[in-house]
Amino acid sequence: MIELLHQTIEFWLQAHWSIALLMSAVVNIITYVTASCFFSCFFKWLTEHQQMGQHVDNRPLKAGQVKREIKQGLITCLVLAACSLMTRWWYSGIWPAGWGLFAWQVLLFALFYETYSYWVHRLLHGRTFSSVHAVHHRSTRVTPWTAYSVHPVEAVLIGITAPLFILLLPLSLGVAFSLHIMGMVFTIFIHSNFQLRANRTLARLLSASAYHVRHHQNGQVNYAFTTALWDRLMGTKKAS
Ligand SMILES: [Zn+2]
Ligand SMILES: [Zn+2]
Repeated sequence: MIELLHQTIEFWLQAHWSIALLMSAVVNIITYVTASCFFSCFFKWLTEHQQMGQHVDNRPLKAGQVKREIKQGLITCLVLAACSLMTRWWYSGIWPAGWGLFAWQVLLFALFYETYSYWVHRLLHGRTFSSVHAVHHRSTRVTPWTAYSVHPVEAVLIGITAPLFILLLPLSLGVAFSLHIMGMVFTIFIHSNFQLRANRTLARLLSASAYHVRHHQNGQVNYAFTTALWDRLMGTKKAS
């Protein structure tokens, strides 16, 4: 599996930019569609047939909402693919030399992402970018498809996260790719609008979705995505 990924990344690096763009777009679209379908169906099944969970927000979806979200989400996948081409200029190797370096790259990128995504999100809620971020907040009750239903300008701000990091610190392409796919799946998950009824430990693990749903209900709180670190520091955290 790792070998296949390694060979695919090598091919992507040497390919003409148009082929590399196509490959990135296909991977993003497959991840977006597969993860959104999975979370939609799995949480619907848990809610309706197993009575194990419930929606965090029960307001009805808007007319044509999911269709609009999918269309916007597919455009975002293309923008993310275009941004990924920047990593072909600045990357440092396909894999880090050893597990120690691997751990450092993951830790530093996680810290960078945590800080960058929080402050960009706050900027998007400011007056200058309010019409840009309004595209994402048109979905008041979220669905997994909402995750990438964003304005192309916001898509660029998301897409340049890894290229910006690579300008500052070394990041191997294999690590960047793996974190990107995990990040996409996680972003789709937090838009699932689902919380477990039973099992406290598991419910706490899945509470990231309720945390972000509160942001869609009240745009002044819960700006963070992965941990509540910056929300705690800046007093913008609202319990899920
Ligand atoms: Zn959202
Ligand atoms: Zn927002």
